[in-house]
Amino acid sequence: MASIFSHVLIPVAARMGLGSSTVSNRLLLIAALASIIPDADVIAFAYGIPYGDALGHRGFTHSITFALLCGLATAVFAEQLNTSKKTAFILVFISTISHGLLDSLTNGGLGIAFFWPLDNARYFLPWHPIEVSPIGIRNFFTARGLTVLRSEFVWVFVPAFVSVIILRVFLNRPQTDQT
Ligand SMILES: [Zn+2]
Repeated sequence: MASIFSHVLIPVAARMGLGSSTVSNRLLLIAALASIIPDADVIAFAYGIPYGDALGHRGFTHSITFALLCGLATAVFAEQLNTSKKTAFILVFISTISHGLLDSLTNGGLGIAFFWPLDNARYFLPWHPIEVSPIGIRNFFTARGLTVLRSEFVWVFVPAFVSVIILRVFLNRPQTDQT
């Protein structure tokens, strides 16, 4: 995993870039959940499911199919989320799949089962600038956690911040509706 901060940053940056009229508070909440829900699969370790299994960590919950299903499920509730079906689908799909993409940029663990259920092979992107985050909060508050945050600041926070500025300039929106 990349750290929880980096995963949640993706929907937060979308909200900051697109504004609250496009990304409502409720949609932001669901998208933030969608960005971290793939790591619910760490429970597999407790059940003795092998890491490389489809049900294991970085398995089906990190796949494109899972992200599509999360996007579709959210689109069904678009009205309750004060948004359009299209926005709900796109934001939640991107928030969910960005989790696997960020993980595949880390330098540890197994790769990501992006193409489950068609292919259970694990993939990394060809470039791994992000330090892998320790699993479990206790392990995070160590020197290792700082190293992780430093790499994520450079490779996730800075690009996300630049993307927000570009979106703002592109959409020419006032800076009044930040989270
Ligand atoms: Zn993950």
